[in-house]
Amino acid sequence: MSPTKPLITDPIEQAFKLGEHWVPGIWRYMLPVALTDITLPQERRATCLNCPRAKFEGWRPDYRCCTYHPRVPNFLLGLALSQPASEKIIKTLVLKGFLLPEGMISSPNQWAHYLTDTGEDRFGRSEKVLCPFLEQKSGLCNLYAFRNSVCSTFFCQHDHGDKGDRFWSSLQTVAQQVEMGLGQWALNQLGFDVKAYMKRLNSLSTTIEKVSDPETGAWTPAALKLVWGKFYGREIELLQACGDLVRKHRDELWKIANTIDILEAHKFDRASVRIVPKKYRSEIDAEYFESGDTSPPRDIWRGFKALHKNLWALPAGSLSFSPRAQLMANPKDDAEGKAFKDCTHMVEFRARRNAHDYEWREYIPADKAMALLWFSRRRKVNAALLERLSSMLKQDASQFLSEWTGKKVLTKSLP
Ligand code: SF4
Ligand code: SF4
Repeated sequence: MSPTKPLITDPIEQAFKLGEHWVPGIWRYMLPVALTDITLPQERRATCLNCPRAKFEGWRPDYRCCTYHPRVPNFLLGLALSQPASEKIIKTLVLKGFLLPEGMISSPNQWAHYLTDTGEDRFGRSEKVLCPFLEQKSGLCNLYAFRNSVCSTFFCQHDHGDKGDRFWSSLQTVAQQVEMGLGQWALNQLGFDVKAYMKRLNSLSTTIEKVSDPETGAWTPAALKLVWGKFYGREIELLQACGDLVRKHRDELWKIANTIDILEAHKFDRASVRIVPKKYRSEIDAEYFESGDTSPPRDIWRGFKALHKNLWALPAGSLSFSPRAQLMANPKDDAEGKAFKDCTHMVEFRARRNAHDYEWREYIPADKAMALLWFSRRRKVNAALLERLSSMLKQDASQFLSEWTGKKVLTKSLP
């Protein structure tokens, strides 16, 4: 008798919808259940399959914002081995030398390639830094149900402007801390000593130039042999075991992640800077050089909940239209204006009141334009205002106010 495939897929392998967003199956287990009560912003303008960056800003229509190498923890790769498309890619990545015991982690040269791209304003346009999980022909992600925290929370435009950006970053940080903690916990449980692994990585700092290939970015065989230790040649076995372990302990993942002290190879990380061309070192995030303790996920979660409250809070006091913003009729004189031909108006926002170039632009329909125009005079936020706005809009009035204050187009005005 041939082996039969189980008819029901394990929910840990299935992406599910949180509000308007699909998130990886593991989120059912590794994050607090309270996440399902959180109202996530819709992010209506990040229309990925009809990507505005590709349409109007010259980004690659195939890769779009997937011109980077995501850090994917070992257990997500292990779980993804259950799917033929991702299994094939993961096995190729092992053979080509792109995976470490912790998962898919950029090598020093891959990191330098990425920073060179951002320094040359090539993010979204890169020829070199391309996620191996993206299927070029369809533009679809072959790791979708197992993608990492960055991929799951990235939106190039936010309904709530910077406030929305901070909200998603905070959720990403919680999820990333859990991913890193669980990845290291799984290794230790399987007899792969993480402390010793970090020491081996640090020992490579003196020969950092020989750790990865300058052209392809792949980790060199010598480096791989050292860091994989007894699992060199048995990489898939270890990844699979990490996935299985997390699957088995699914109901304890949040608790486990909060007990792990995440270890990092600081010496190795600092040495990696030598690989980055001097001209692009300013692209390195300041946080990269911080070697302090990381907060447990539950502390970051508390901050995230506060941001959530603040995101949807009804602004108090009076609001008026910001002098940094301009509302005008949609001129329909370029590709973007024409693509949004159903939007009668456009809002332009500048970093400073009289700045020549705008920071961002958004096309809006007549009802929103009318509601914004109403704030050319200072308006007190009260029940009467909400009622008036509700009659103008095809959207909840308080949601409208939290979004446009988040974008700083409506600002608090002094009495
Ligand atoms: S998030 Fe990425 S794919 Fe989606 S719209 Fe923005 S740039 Fe395009
Ligand atoms: S894992 Fe998927 S979503 Fe993330 S960068 Fe790769 S293709 Fe894009």
